[in-house]
Amino acid sequence: MGSSLSDLLRPDLRGRTPYGAPQLDVPVPLNTNENSYAVPQDVVDAIVASVAELASGLNRYPDREFVRLREDLAAYLTNTGEVAVGPEQVWAGNGSNEVLLHLLQAFGGPDRVALGFTPAYSMHPIITRTSGTTWVDGFRGVEGAGAFDLDVASAVAQVRAHQPNIVFLCSPNNPTGTALGLDLVEAVYDAGQRALVVVDEAYAEFARPGTPSALTLLNGRPRLVVTRTMSKAFALAGGRLGYLAADPELIEALRLVRLPYHLSAQTQAVACAALEHAGGLLATVELLKGQRDRIVADLIEMGLDPVPSDANFVLFGGLLDEQVTWRALLEQGILIRDVGLAHHLRVTAGTPWETGAFLEAMRSLAPTHRQEQLQ
Ligand SMILES: *Cc1c(COP(=O)(O)O)cnc(C)c1O
Repeated sequence: MGSSLSDLLRPDLRGRTPYGAPQLDVPVPLNTNENSYAVPQDVVDAIVASVAELASGLNRYPDREFVRLREDLAAYLTNTGEVAVGPEQVWAGNGSNEVLLHLLQAFGGPDRVALGFTPAYSMHPIITRTSGTTWVDGFRGVEGAGAFDLDVASAVAQVRAHQPNIVFLCSPNNPTGTALGLDLVEAVYDAGQRALVVVDEAYAEFARPGTPSALTLLNGRPRLVVTRTMSKAFALAGGRLGYLAADPELIEALRLVRLPYHLSAQTQAVACAALEHAGGLLATVELLKGQRDRIVADLIEMGLDPVPSDANFVLFGGLLDEQVTWRALLEQGILIRDVGLAHHLRVTAGTPWETGAFLEAMRSLAPTHRQEQLQ
């Protein structure tokens, strides 16, 4: 008789639950903030051609340094016109989640602390704890401002109080949709004297005009990291490509923890083909922003309480029982997200048809599912 597996498991992992957004086959999937638009045919053709070209070379390991991909990502960021980024400042992984894991492996670990401001991206604490790092649940919300706003003084006070080794900021924030001002990023950076400050900008491309990226702060801030992904705006969630921009010395540190050849030849080729067609892929961003704004306007009309959004989703409150509403929508084939916030649900902006299906269902549910009955 040996020990049971649960005795062998790392004590800090016992009783934990894995990440588990439902993957259900429904007509209207609006729960994981994917881009609802299929990859356009000319991009499909480019992807197929580039994979066909490399297939016979799959007997060899891929370029461990993914040089072409780093050049293309740097060029994409530079072309946004906000800031010049060089390939030596770029790192990539199989989704930005892997890039975050590399950061935790290199800069976290036992006896180290990471701080985030909840509610934010649920994977930040999960990846933090996976690496044996202690997670500290900071808070958002101040009197007189929006319930989910993160205010500069509060963020700075929390950083001073916890002295973290890593601070997570998320802008635009998932699940609230709100972007952070650069003054907050700067203040947190200055307050966390020994902290790596990670700004997760997975939804940057959806931000409303006049929302600058933390990329513009990188110069002269060696402890600042900005993470991005091709999973959302680029409609490439299945391609698994996330990346970050930071000081070249920080990139060097990530080479210590990544597995050799972590980006497959086909991943690199697919991402490069997609970046070559960035214009075509990103054309859906404006359409999705329009649907997002439509959701906000319509939910207000229904007497619900949507949070203004800079992302491709909307968090809304005002529900009597969010779990009941979630199930009622699912019964109609509409899958949205219960993010564990009382009276709130999160919905992704989809195609006009998907968005319309959600809004129509919500309009019929609202009178009985609302917290406060309209007069
Ligand atoms: C969706 C999302 C990501 C993306 O993760 P990938 O691994 O790149 O697919 C990262 N951060 C946030 C806040 C997200 O919502």
